[in-house]
Amino acid sequence: MTHPLDILPLNEWIDTGGKPLIIAGPCSAETEEQVVSTAHLLANTGKVHVLRSGIWKPRTRPGEFEGIGSEGLQWLKRAKEETGLLTSTEVANAKHVKEALEAGIDILWIGARSAANPFTVQEIADALEGVDVPVLVKNPINPDLGLWMGAIERINRAGIKKIGAIHRGFSSYEKTSFRNDPMWDIAIELKSVYPDLPIINDPSHICGNRELIPYISQKALDMDMQGLIIEAHIDPSKAWTDAKQQITPNSLQEMLDVITMRKPDSDNPAFEDKLSGLRSEIDRLDDTLIQQIAERMNIVEQIGNFKRDNDVTILQMSRWDEIVDKRLQLAKALNLSESFMKKYLDLIHEESIRKQTEIMNEKKIVAN
Ligand code: PEP
Ligand code: MN
Repeated sequence: MTHPLDILPLNEWIDTGGKPLIIAGPCSAETEEQVVSTAHLLANTGKVHVLRSGIWKPRTRPGEFEGIGSEGLQWLKRAKEETGLLTSTEVANAKHVKEALEAGIDILWIGARSAANPFTVQEIADALEGVDVPVLVKNPINPDLGLWMGAIERINRAGIKKIGAIHRGFSSYEKTSFRNDPMWDIAIELKSVYPDLPIINDPSHICGNRELIPYISQKALDMDMQGLIIEAHIDPSKAWTDAKQQITPNSLQEMLDVITMRKPDSDNPAFEDKLSGLRSEIDRLDDTLIQQIAERMNIVEQIGNFKRDNDVTILQMSRWDEIVDKRLQLAKALNLSESFMKKYLDLIHEESIRKQTEIMNEKKIVAN
């Protein structure tokens, strides 16, 4: 059961001049000089709206740098006074919330590890009761849409209306090219349950390395995400945390200069005409596809009846292997991706077996 959120659109709580929201800054605040000088360089790009910086760092192993702690809040405050950038940091318990609010931090975010723990999220939500501050909720480390939704709902129920989600990818045991597998489908599904919820992409934590950041950033904007949160450091390779994935303010500027900012719609009538023509073509093809799938299932039903009357098993693997082989060859010739075609064929096979099992069971009922 999905409860609608009571939230305000992004442009009512932060003015980005109609452009995607850009949050940037170091993974961790290390020294006052590092935070303030990074903030100046980021502000000078003219493209960054909010400075990010972790003050309390959730680390996988003990003994690593766990964040500079409360004193760093004052560095963020100074960075804001000198540059005019808004400030943001991660909070993971009630004490963090209290101290961040006292220091005048403008936006709070809940990290991926905290988002996976309803006790933690509830503690943060309780500390936010009666406060008017924007909160961004990262996706939980594990690929669980319900958990992400639950965290967002808890914050919303505490009365926070300025909410956004951060898509930072999901942990997986399998090695992929990414540090955290983006699993775009989960972010798309979140958008479909909460259409008004802004989603901001975190290419730094998805990629885990600098090289892939422009690619993921462009992809996120192409998918109509409403902003980016990117780790930027004056001297990335010397960063105390996440050194491989941070970029200089200068590279950030270069990347944002070439990135294509797409809009969901265009005001050009020729574009609209062409698009609506193509969309009606898609509608027509989808109708045809559905009719043909129905026709295919009718034949499956006939085969099921026929097998039942002749006491033949449902599953005939050699026939199925032959189908998959032939279909994949055709798909390849037509430039369809193999993984997509395999998924499609698996679904069709599953449904055919389900249908035929139903038919076999009918016989049992009659026989009894
Ligand atoms: C971070 O933003 O530096 C961070 C710790 O991210 P995540 O919670 O996504 O791992
Ligand atoms: Mn980080």
